[in-house]
Amino acid sequence: MTAGLRRELISLALWLVFMLGTGWLVGQVVAFMLAALAMWLSWYLYQINRLLVWLGKPSRQVPEARGVWDEVYYQLYNLYKRQRKARKKLTSILARFQSSTEALPYATIVLDKNNRIEWFNPAAKNLFELSSNADIGQRIDNLVRLPVFVQYLNARQYDEPLEFDYMQRKLRMNITPYGSGQFLLTARDVTSRRKLDDMRRDFISNASHELRTPVTVIAGYLEALSDNVDEATRKPLQKIQQQTRRMQTIIDDLIELARLESPVDESGLDVVDANAVLGDVYQEAAGIDQGRHRLDLRQQDSDAPSEITGHYNEVRTALLNLVTNAIRYTPENGRITLFLESDEQTVMLGVEDNGPGIAYEHIPRLTERFYRVDAGRSREQGGSGLGLAIVKHILDRHNASLFVRSKSGKGSQFRCDFPRAH
Ligand code: ADP
Repeated sequence: MTAGLRRELISLALWLVFMLGTGWLVGQVVAFMLAALAMWLSWYLYQINRLLVWLGKPSRQVPEARGVWDEVYYQLYNLYKRQRKARKKLTSILARFQSSTEALPYATIVLDKNNRIEWFNPAAKNLFELSSNADIGQRIDNLVRLPVFVQYLNARQYDEPLEFDYMQRKLRMNITPYGSGQFLLTARDVTSRRKLDDMRRDFISNASHELRTPVTVIAGYLEALSDNVDEATRKPLQKIQQQTRRMQTIIDDLIELARLESPVDESGLDVVDANAVLGDVYQEAAGIDQGRHRLDLRQQDSDAPSEITGHYNEVRTALLNLVTNAIRYTPENGRITLFLESDEQTVMLGVEDNGPGIAYEHIPRLTERFYRVDAGRSREQGGSGLGLAIVKHILDRHNASLFVRSKSGKGSQFRCDFPRAH
């Protein structure tokens, strides 16, 4: 029992004893007892009313009270103080959050579950030309009506960002779900970065095209020369020829990479039979390999689904690059298998070998341009260092993914997962 309640009970008892005594003296015990209780009850009702008035508008001015009421006010006032403190803290966190998001160079928009705008920062106002008063509560897809944007927004698959053209700018946008069905949309202007990328791509493509002609001419002269040279000159000439061929491969691969970096021509997309690609590449690989390895073909039953959407030649190039690598790095008499598997969603096309394998730490970097596990070996085998970068670009253009499984000394498996065409 609290001290306040104890005091209250003592006061009540004293009051009742006093009224009982007075009633006994005047010979009206019952009437005095009833009056005592009625007065006590009125006092309580009065205190409850005061409390309700104060609770309606709590302030630092706590009404004066005695006994248990003093304690009630004291506890409630402490609660009120704690709440005020917590609210102040939250308000300052919110204000800080808002001012930092307002200062963000990224356009930031908070959307509710129906794509209605709840809040946006000044960068979003500029980028999407929003109006602070009119556009709060509006559906964003009514304001930004681009089909590609609306489709992305409604597909609710936000793993990958979306890049799109909007009002003569290139925007890159991310959407992150949070809270109870809300979404945070962030976007930034990547026009200048894209321009730089385009310039870099065009520079590489132009420089490679410019180099191609002189190197071809040199290769032609070397070919003609090689027929009638004496023994002493033959060896160095062969070395020059070998290096010229390497230069040609690098130039061709650089041109191919620059081409693959340009946007996909959607109109040229076909339904490609991955089985046919596999057969084609197998024939070509057998020609390149000249019986140095055991080349196998592993397919599910021949009528298993194998249709994908894309460009036949690109899919062929990707698989051919994988098989040439296997031929290049697997020691003679090793085993190389081209395989195709499929399920409801995916067509898996790839190559495995029992060659030297690749140590774990190199695997994430294999598709970088000019990344080689063993540079000397790659050059010696005529590799350009661009083969897997080309594969990665081709797969990206087909919404496909590359999976590499390998262990040093145990061989490698390169598998391309394409979405099945339905
Ligand atoms: P490269 O022209 O050097 O072969 P790639 O981009 O095709 O360039 O391959 C990158 C590197 O990955 C190669 O240099 C090689 O070290 C490694 N690699 C690729 N395929 C295989 C494989 N089947 N077995 C072992 N190493 C491989």
